[in-house]
Amino acid sequence: MAILNEQVAVVTGGSRGIGRAISLALSREGATVVVCARNRDKLESLPAEAADRRCPGRIVPRALDVTDAAAIEPWFDALATEYGRVDILVNNAGITRDGLMMNMTDEQFDEVLTTNLRSIFWLTRAASKYMVRARYGRVINLTSVSGIMGNSGQANYAASKAGVIGFTKSVAKELARRGVTCNAVAPGFIKTDMTNVLPQKVKEQVKGLIPLQRFGEPDEVAAAVLFLASPAASYVNGQILVVDGGLHM
Ligand code: NAD
Repeated sequence: MAILNEQVAVVTGGSRGIGRAISLALSREGATVVVCARNRDKLESLPAEAADRRCPGRIVPRALDVTDAAAIEPWFDALATEYGRVDILVNNAGITRDGLMMNMTDEQFDEVLTTNLRSIFWLTRAASKYMVRARYGRVINLTSVSGIMGNSGQANYAASKAGVIGFTKSVAKELARRGVTCNAVAPGFIKTDMTNVLPQKVKEQVKGLIPLQRFGEPDEVAAAVLFLASPAASYVNGQILVVDGGLHM
């Protein structure tokens, strides 16, 4: 039996990569999944893909730019009115703007912090209103091993992802008594457009550092998110689940 029947999930940045895999995994378990992207057109093929895979949960494509602070609360209010509930929020949308810290511009730093961290605050604040009222909710944030280990060329990205970890643990403490858990998943190197831009030589060097000797698949991250969204994770709160083939341990 599907474990998320009747639940409503929101996934940000679901047009491709990890967010797309997460949306399909939640739909496979029966959830109605509201998937957002800046450009709704990029989500058009997702419901058909879910149908092809015989996923029972409905996929609802919606346009939302997670950096549009003023739009987020009304967007959530409309969604909650339409569906009557928001059980799961997966804060997945994220970007990189890599460069050495000494050459990094304010714009490069701020754009990454806004997309990867401030947006999570705006979305979680908007969603938690409904979760607290229902005395049930699961917030799952995508962080990164870069936020734990640091990474040369990613001072902005690593700072944003370390911020996500602190945010996750604080929200986990604040909302637990209201029935809402908050956890994060920290992927290592996963095969998506985000890592595809790395030069082949760097990819080979990185593989050498990963005990499993390969990059992960988006589905392998989605499986961790699904676990945290599922009834099996009812007593898991404030945790950072690392999915990196053993890169960081
Ligand atoms: P990706 O670049 O393939 O996809 C990112 C998604 O976020 C896209 O759908 C994009 O359109 C969306 N997005 C970006 N800015 C947005 C905005 N302002 N509003 C709405 N949507 C927006 O990346 P991915 O590899 O699938 O990464 C997904 C998440 O996992 C990110 O938070 C990323 O930081 C994290 N992560 C990825 C890796 C990896 O190796 N791929 C490793 C660690 C963490």
